[in-house]
Amino acid sequence: MTNISLSVKQMVKAIADRDPKYDGVFVYGVITTGVYCRPTCPSRAALPENLRFFTDARSAEIAGMRACKRCAPNDRYQDIERFVELARYIETNAHETLSLKALADRCQLSPAYVQRKFLSVFGVSPKAYQDSIRLNSVKGALKDGDEITGAIFSAGYGSTSRFYTKAVKHIGMTPTAYRAGGAGEVISYCCRQTSLGWLMMAATKKGVCFVMFGESAESLKTQLQVEFPKAELSMSPVSQDKELDAWIDALDLHLSKNGPRPDIPLDLRGTAFQISTWKYLLSIADGDVVSYSNVAEGIGRPKAVRAVASACGKNRIAVLIPCHRVLRADGGLGGYRWSLDRKRVLLDVERARRAPQ
Ligand SMILES: [Zn+2]
Repeated sequence: MTNISLSVKQMVKAIADRDPKYDGVFVYGVITTGVYCRPTCPSRAALPENLRFFTDARSAEIAGMRACKRCAPNDRYQDIERFVELARYIETNAHETLSLKALADRCQLSPAYVQRKFLSVFGVSPKAYQDSIRLNSVKGALKDGDEITGAIFSAGYGSTSRFYTKAVKHIGMTPTAYRAGGAGEVISYCCRQTSLGWLMMAATKKGVCFVMFGESAESLKTQLQVEFPKAELSMSPVSQDKELDAWIDALDLHLSKNGPRPDIPLDLRGTAFQISTWKYLLSIADGDVVSYSNVAEGIGRPKAVRAVASACGKNRIAVLIPCHRVLRADGGLGGYRWSLDRKRVLLDVERARRAPQ
């Protein structure tokens, strides 16, 4: 047991009471069975001397415990659902004063836990989330936001800070497989009208491999075929690929309604040089810009400025890999695969978002 700020006595009581306030705060394992549970598990509690306490499912598993099938303490989704509800509540009551304590009471959790968990699920604190909703509703931009945010949150995506590291971790696919043009793979795709025009998103099993703007759904489909000539492309009806659908909603919300940057796994495909360039781009913060030569230096290839520009131009994951944040050294816009107008809009929006309110 590690840094749980509760006494054993408190935890034993929480288990005896099956107190929902502690669900997500700790899990307990029973040494006689090797099974670990949520404090709220309906199973009969073991003798206190046989209990061991852990901060989360992961530490219990590291200690060799198996998850209980009844209370599924390793089901992250169950936790997320409570926070989705909380986020919805904040949305509908954004004009009220919502203290962290009141929010925590509402979901019968401790304020500290709500703060930490909300941040880890959505990438923003409840307060910052409320502020952004307020800001949006002032702009009258939240007309159909409810449905859209619902979709993101039910998938558990919609955060910012974890995006970069996660995206870097999610890189799959070798250059060889890429050169084969996606042979033998199924790529699902979907399309939306956004504030920046038609947007297509496509994904393999590993993550999003294609995000592009275009003039029509047809031209985007053609573009997808050009990029992955040998893959089997499958149009994704909402019911079949909920994840992809939630991702494109999240990105649309981000673009059209100033929603948080979505937290989406990426499947980067390219040469080693391109991939290192794109990874570097993932590290540029919202509202920041860099020059092509900054990037070249950043990846340890200071002379490869033109190759960097070309790798930016070959980026096929618009916005999520923020190649729009790379400018010429003299501050000029440089190029953008999806038109300079879009690049300008993206940069303006990010700058405005970053400006102190
Ligand atoms: Zn259980």
